[in-house]
Amino acid sequence: MGVAKQWFEGRSLGHGVTLIRETHVHPFARCNIWHVRGRDRDLLVDSGTGLVALAPLLPGTQGRPVVVVGTHVHFDHVGGHHEFSDRRGHVLEAAAYDSMPDAATVAHLFRELDEPVDMLPSAGWRRSSYSVRPAPLSVRLEEGDRVDLGDRVFSVLHLPGHSPGSIGLYDERDGMLFSGDAVYDGELIDDLGHSSVESYAATMQRLARLPVRVVHAGHHDSFDESRLRRLVDQYLMGRRRAGCPLA
Ligand SMILES: [Zn+2]
Ligand SMILES: [Zn+2]
Repeated sequence: MGVAKQWFEGRSLGHGVTLIRETHVHPFARCNIWHVRGRDRDLLVDSGTGLVALAPLLPGTQGRPVVVVGTHVHFDHVGGHHEFSDRRGHVLEAAAYDSMPDAATVAHLFRELDEPVDMLPSAGWRRSSYSVRPAPLSVRLEEGDRVDLGDRVFSVLHLPGHSPGSIGLYDERDGMLFSGDAVYDGELIDDLGHSSVESYAATMQRLARLPVRVVHAGHHDSFDESRLRRLVDQYLMGRRRAGCPLA
């Protein structure tokens, strides 16, 4: 297997938002990395696996500081956090950011994939040595906190279920939600050791009432409010079918 010439692929979605993906990472572990240009500072929502340095490749930050927020502490979302100095994530996962243990990052799931990458990130790279570099938080986020870019402001929504400290970033003015793995247009995961079906159902009921124009999720394509409602319904119906009284 050869070394990849280009690791990241970027696509502008307008409104100062760029979607960045690691094209050579297994689809299961390929999260959406979101770069949002701001007047005073830029926002990076999640940072990928950390297999290749991301900071030098960010689209035109032109000296503006970058705030990196982790939607949750899973390996595919926070692997590049150590490259940035302004690191924010939910307080419930702060201890995990300090040392990035597999139990929190689930990095072992990546090592156990048949083919975690289809090109090498660097010469001699081995999956067995993969883990997430520690990246202690500089700011511990909680529900209602704000991330202010100067010309747009995102509110932190605590959306537990997939993991205890899962968060969304919501620009109420524009109806833009970065949802992480709380909701995306694919099969949602609520059966990890630190997942909670009860919390997930409550998160879904909250998302069902949230006015949105567009949801930029942790995986797969972005979607609108009607698709969000449908994904919420599908999750809650599935849980009811499975006999969960809490949904
Ligand atoms: Zn996740
Ligand atoms: Zn994910």
